[in-house]
Order: sequence, then C-alpha cells, then structure tokens
Amino acid sequence: VKKTKPIPVALYGGRHAVTMLPGGGIGPELMVYVKEIFKYAGAPVDFEVVEIDPKSDESNDLEYAITSIKRNGVAIKGNIETKSESTGVQSRNVAIRNELDLFVNVLHCHSYPGVPARQKGIDIIIIRQNTEGEYAMLEHESVEGVVESMKIVTKSNSERVARFAFEYAKRNNRKKVTTIHKANIMKLSDGLFLETSQKVAKDYPEIEHNDMIIDNCCMQLVSRPHQFDVMIMTNLYGTIVSNVVCGLVGGAGLLSGKNYGDHYAIFEPGTRNTGTAIAGKNIANPIAMISASIDMLDHLGHKQHSQVISDAVRKVICEDKLHTPDLGGSASSTEIVQRIIDYILQTDTRAW
Ligand code: ADP
Ligand code: MG
Repeated sequence: VKKTKPIPVALYGGRHAVTMLPGGGIGPELMVYVKEIFKYAGAPVDFEVVEIDPKSDESNDLEYAITSIKRNGVAIKGNIETKSESTGVQSRNVAIRNELDLFVNVLHCHSYPGVPARQKGIDIIIIRQNTEGEYAMLEHESVEGVVESMKIVTKSNSERVARFAFEYAKRNNRKKVTTIHKANIMKLSDGLFLETSQKVAKDYPEIEHNDMIIDNCCMQLVSRPHQFDVMIMTNLYGTIVSNVVCGLVGGAGLLSGKNYGDHYAIFEPGTRNTGTAIAGKNIANPIAMISASIDMLDHLGHKQHSQVISDAVRKVICEDKLHTPDLGGSASSTEIVQRIIDYILQTDTRAW
C-alpha cells in the first residue's frame, strides 16, 4: 500500500508562508476577513498575495502564482474569473490545478445545526478527480458546425484518486466508498475509472464499496442522501454533485474544499464561485472562505489556532444563529466576522 507523502511547507522562524490568491468577485473582501481573523487568533502565518488580472492572459501573473505556491507549498484561493465568451483565454483555475498536479479535490459536505436547509444531518465526503476528465480542455471544431471535446481518463490518475479515497476512509473511520460513473454509456472512459476503483477496493476489505450511475446518484442525493459516506467520481460529475450537496446543506457560502497533490495543497470555498453580483455589498457569506483558512491551519499543523477559529464559527452560526442573507438571515458579512473575532478574543490562550 502506497502511503501519501508528507507535503513540504515553507517555515521561517516558526511562521508559515502561504500564497494568497484573492481572485475576483467576493474573493478580495473574503481574504480581508481571513487576515483579520488570523491577526486576532495570533495564527503564525504570513500571506504572500498574488493578484491575477482577470481580463488578460498576457501578463506573468499566473507564473508568479505558481512559482509562489511551489515555494510555499500551500495556498488559499478565491475564484479567478474566466469569462465564457472569451474563448481564447483558458481557465487559470484549471491551469493552476494542472500545473501543480493537484489531482484530487476533497469536499466535506456536512450540515450545520441551526442553518435552515433542505436536508439535516448530512455528512458526505466527495472525492473528485481534479485534473483530467471533461476538464482536459481539448476541444476543437473538426469541420464547420461540428465540435469535438475530449474527456481524458487515465488509469494512473483513477488509481491515485481511488487510493486517496480508501486511505481517507480508513484514516477517518468511514465505512463505505461509492464510485459514481456513467460506465453504461461511456464504457471505455468511465469503465476504466470504475474498474480501477473496484481493483483498489480489494485492498480495503474492511471498507464497503459500491457504485452508482451519476443520474441515479443525483436523484438519490436529493431524496435519500444519508446513504452516502465517501463518494469518488471524475471531474465534471464532481463539480455537479458538489453543488447539489452544498445546495442541500445551505448553499455556496458555507463549505470549504481542499485540493491536494503529492507536493502542494490549495484551500478554497467548496463550490468555487466568483460571486460577481454580490461583491462589494457586505452580504457575501464569509464562512466558506474562513473554513478554507481553518483547513489550511490544520494542514500546517496549527491545530490550536484552527480549533479556536472553528469553535468561534460554530458559536456564531449554530448557537447565535447569526446568518447572512443567503441563509435567510439579515447579518452583514462584517457583523459575522466581528462576532467571530469577539469569540476568539474571549478564548484563554495563555496556556498555549
Ligand atoms: P457569479 O456568476 O456572480 O460569479 P457564481 O456563479 O459565482 O456567481 O455563484 C453562484 C451563486 O452562489 C450566486 O447566486 C452567488 O451569489 C452565490 N454565492 C456564491 N458564493 C457566495 C457566498 N460566499 N455568499 C453568498 N452567496 C454566494
Ligand atoms: Mg460562476
């Protein structure tokens, strides 16, 4: 059994350097909140901020961002906008994940008690292939009016994702892994993904493994979501299923997502939204990005700091039920952040 290698991270005089990519839309305001919270929690992290021009592919921004992440090992990220009408510009989000070989995305979809939601008591881990599949960006017009788009599935990446999922299940005491696919139609590509996960499953007899067709999976998710534990899937199914489950527990503003490769890690809001329409209005839900920053602190080994911040978040969301408009509340983003900071300041950190 292959062990996941430890990911090296930059550490200078006890402080970690982390790349911060604010991105567009609500990204920059959310990063301000993260920095404020880290300041009051005394989190030993220095951010190296890299802005990426959303309109231009010409500059070296992307290169700077990638170099910075390679140096620091870890990044926190907002969504970088790629306008769908600008066909010449490829997605910088995809480029960063590919360049750093962040082959897996992990989304822990869990309900927050106190948040009004369509389903209660959800606790699902979505593990998504993050660099190939339908996101290969290999599209061309072969003859006028006929466009071909290639979906790439490799045995090696399918195996890495499956291995990651079963190791994750084992480490976190999870009981079942479900492979999501459409192998009845895409017999070769999804067939390979499914077959590979079935082979890997044989190494983990203590963990139940089953599979489900993506369309049935969507129906099951909205009607009987509690049957799912850990799920693995290819890239496009992953983004769709992630959004379905986030919708079940309270929307785009709550959950964080983690991107891992063998060497680097990027933390970001789970549904990767830009939120252009709500930017600058002090209404964006800050919790998804704050949760991403908590994940990042955990990853760096700063468990006490991550615990203090996540306790404060839980009190604000679940006990005080202070919510932004996306959750049906009337609190502003800054009211939520201020309340979180108030709780952090009440924590006795003298024993640390
Ligand atoms: P846009 O097209 O403006 O970029 P997205 O597609 O990024 O919007 O986001 C999808 C939906 O989720 C939008 O309605 C957006 O307002 C909402 N949303 C995304 N992130 C948040 C957040 N942090 N707080 C509240 N609503 C959010
Ligand atoms: Mg969008």
